[in-house]
Amino acid sequence: MNTFDVLIIGGGAAGMSCALVLGSAKNKAFTIDKTIGIIMHQKASALVSGLFNNVLGLKAGTTGKEILEKGKQQLSETYPHIIQIEQEKVQKIEGTKGNFTVITNKNQYQAKIIVIAVGPSNLFNIEGLLQYVAPHQKLPPAKERIQLKNNDHKVTDGIYVAGVLAGWRSQFAIACGSGASVATDILTEWNNGNPAMVHDKID
Ligand SMILES: Cc1cc2nc3c(=O)[nH]c(=O)nc-3n(C[C@H](O)[C@H](O)[C@H](O)COP(=O)(O)OP(=O)(O)OC[C@H]3O[C@@H](n4cnc5c(N)ncnc54)[C@H](O)[C@@H]3O)c2cc1C
Repeated sequence: MNTFDVLIIGGGAAGMSCALVLGSAKNKAFTIDKTIGIIMHQKASALVSGLFNNVLGLKAGTTGKEILEKGKQQLSETYPHIIQIEQEKVQKIEGTKGNFTVITNKNQYQAKIIVIAVGPSNLFNIEGLLQYVAPHQKLPPAKERIQLKNNDHKVTDGIYVAGVLAGWRSQFAIACGSGASVATDILTEWNNGNPAMVHDKID
């Protein structure tokens, strides 16, 4: 499978949260024909070295490594229709909304919409996006982190940014919320502009 309606780039807090919310909309009429993928690169996630005591719903002492593993598992078990692409890193993006080409170190993919959730490292070097890079507005300047210029997560037509790279401070819950927010923006787009959310409930 090499063609996606949405391709999420980055398998950390924001990317996986975005994928989970998009996946949870699988029974909505406006998602039936949609193909969703995530480039599940995790090696460079801030979660790798983190220890989490202050996140609602997570047991104190949870490690970021556990979150990465369990998040991937939750996505594959609950929403197996979301395609997870492992061990690839995005190098370049070309094209415009409806017809992007995403080039990794191993393959290339077509996508109509892209979500960039790769964290705020100043080593960011995805060709095709460098014109949107700016100093991070909410992290200490001494850390030299970057963000992508955006308006409510929208970088340009068809490209969203999520997580700390969107200009948010680095807290797990904020990054997850940012990814979830982008997912509902995409669902709203697919729903012809009518606000969309996904709530499961106990019968
Ligand atoms: C040591 C440490 C401790 C922390 N402790 C806490 C805490 O106690 N409480 C709290 O709330 N927050 C904590 N955090 C912050 C939290 O981990 C981050 O805010 C959160 O992980 C940010 O999520 P993100 O999705 O923006 O980025 P990340 O989780 O960093 O995800 C970015 C993803 O993009 C992938 N990626 C990078 N480049 C590419 C590419 N070219 N192609 C494809 N994929 C790519 C990476 O591998 C990674 O998986 C801690 C962070 C650290 C470093």
